[in-house]
Amino acid sequence: MKPVIKENGVISAFCPDCGVLSNFTPVTTPQVSKNHDFNGKTCSFILYPFLQCVGCLRGGIAKVHSGGDNWTTTGILEWFFPFYRNVAPLPPSVPDDVVAEFREAELCASFGANRAASALFRSVLEKTLKANGYVRQGQNLRDLQSKIDEAAKDGIITEARRKRAHDEIRVLGNDVLHDDWRIVTDDEVEAAHHYTQRILEDFYDERTEVEKILIANKRIQAQQSSPQVTTSQTSPTPIT
Ligand SMILES: [Zn+2]
Repeated sequence: MKPVIKENGVISAFCPDCGVLSNFTPVTTPQVSKNHDFNGKTCSFILYPFLQCVGCLRGGIAKVHSGGDNWTTTGILEWFFPFYRNVAPLPPSVPDDVVAEFREAELCASFGANRAASALFRSVLEKTLKANGYVRQGQNLRDLQSKIDEAAKDGIITEARRKRAHDEIRVLGNDVLHDDWRIVTDDEVEAAHHYTQRILEDFYDERTEVEKILIANKRIQAQQSSPQVTTSQTSPTPIT
């Protein structure tokens, strides 16, 4: 649901006031004359159209790069405000701190802070595993890689999900945190978002059953489990 320029400079985008995908029509379009390159195209203008939602008339603003011809047909949209925030549903028993980290990652992604979002999705994964008892025990479970693998061995996440956790979340987050700077694409962030949500569902959708497995594998203690978790206020204490 990314914003796109349609005919006559109308921008199709999510309107937070209407709560749906809407059309924003341009009201006035200030422009700056500036020769530059954007996304591999030689441009001579930057335009800042002010627009209004056809449903509720709330305002919006965009940044568009143009080669000097008609921007409404050939302009390249860099960003549009209000930003669209893709908020994924989470099970109600996910701990509050994990939810907060996940929502902040979504917020970063909404305005293109893709590296920050990637690091936070990795953090969500690690915090989730720790909250479920996958914590360092001597020389075991020292890093996120082994924590993910152990969760798969326990049967909490599938083999397919284990691979996604490594490829789409852990490695991406590690790239951001430890490797040289590089662009993180929207597709990479969307994949991290998607699979982080799925892993939270793996751990918290069928919480009673998951806790039985965690107890059986000595990840958490029986007396610390909460068989009927109904709010995000409670979570089992890991065995340390
Ligand atoms: Zn609207």
